[in-house]
Amino acid sequence: MNIDNFNFNGKKAIVRVDFNVPLDENGHITDDTRIRGALPTLKKILSDGGSLIIMSHMGKPKGKVNPKMSLSQIKDTVAKYLDRPVEFATDCADASEQAAALKPGEVLLLENLRFHPEEEGKPVGIDKADPGYDAAKKEMKTRQAEFAKKLASYADVYVNDAFGTAHRRHASTAVIADYFDADHKMLGYLMEKEVNAVDNILSNIKRPFTAIMGGSKVSTKIGIIENLMDKVDNLILCGGMTYTFAKAQGGKIGLSLCEDDKLELALDIMKKAKEKGVNLVLGTDCIAADAFSNDANTMVCSVMDIPDGWEGLDAGPATREAFVKAILPAKTILWNGPAGVFEFDNFTGGSRAIADAIVEATKNGAFSLIGGGDSVACINKFGLADEVSYVSTGGGALLEAIEGKTLPGIAAIRGDK
Ligand code: AMP
Repeated sequence: MNIDNFNFNGKKAIVRVDFNVPLDENGHITDDTRIRGALPTLKKILSDGGSLIIMSHMGKPKGKVNPKMSLSQIKDTVAKYLDRPVEFATDCADASEQAAALKPGEVLLLENLRFHPEEEGKPVGIDKADPGYDAAKKEMKTRQAEFAKKLASYADVYVNDAFGTAHRRHASTAVIADYFDADHKMLGYLMEKEVNAVDNILSNIKRPFTAIMGGSKVSTKIGIIENLMDKVDNLILCGGMTYTFAKAQGGKIGLSLCEDDKLELALDIMKKAKEKGVNLVLGTDCIAADAFSNDANTMVCSVMDIPDGWEGLDAGPATREAFVKAILPAKTILWNGPAGVFEFDNFTGGSRAIADAIVEATKNGAFSLIGGGDSVACINKFGLADEVSYVSTGGGALLEAIEGKTLPGIAAIRGDK
């Protein structure tokens, strides 16, 4: 079932959105992108003549009520965007009467789902190593199912439009789907866009396919690197990872970031790339700094010969050229993780070269997907988000999808559990 071919007229829809927006110390929203992102789905339901029950988490209240993370703080913004009053349920698990009273076109916002430990379904106050943990886990699963059933009882239809939490099997993101028939549960527009973007990258590849993986560590990206190795033509590995590869090959890397227990893994990745005919692009030169600071002294040097006391904080000019050469002809591009410490203005050059090349390749017809927290921050910092094909809203969810894992939030709706 899809949101476009479902008529919500006279129906109550419970919609899981990601309204986990940043707030300042006075509880004012500092960035409402996520709220705006969900509007097409919410407006479609209302314009069909349906009523809306909106649910979300905010922050990490760890199963306890915490006024600083109350969704009441965003109620007025939601009302402004939907152009109508929004009612608020102060306890998401006790909203039956308010939900039942909703008339077509009316909106009810539920309080933060994570004020209840059942939402995440993890046992509280007990350590994994404790003997009673398994029993506590089982009991919590039962409570989670009851909680999900309660939420489901408010509505006729369930819509999941929260891609950012799709990789979690939480009550509102997955378990709740068990209580709706297949033709009464569906993905929202934002979710569909994300799923299509991942499909373009994983199934509908136009070649050449260039993936750029950066950021700080090999260890957190290894699953994706391995999955991509079977799919890409060019694999650029950059950022802090560069120095683990340089050291593994006998380089002298000074104070640069390095995972000493991943040197073998780095060599193994190089070997696999060769076997699979993947063009692996690694940094050859870098901008080294004499301190981890924006104002540090810098020099360009080989990644294999960084002086003592210095560290590589960005890709050097020859490396940038190699990146651009692998990106420009690409027809499918995935970028996750910066090429340097982009938070410091003086070390954004490598990431900027990547971003500019991606924009140009996109103009030449490539499909480009930018995803995973820091590369999104990077493309936003450069003001180039509108010039690539798709900027994903889901960090962890996107990475798990690209790793080839089934996302519980999507499986619950498609029935492929
Ligand atoms: P990740 O969360 O693994 O994607 O890593 C993102 C972080 O990697 C950013 O905060 C960057 O500042 C950092 N990073 C990128 N390149 C380097 C580098 N050469 N040295 C240290 N940190 C880096």
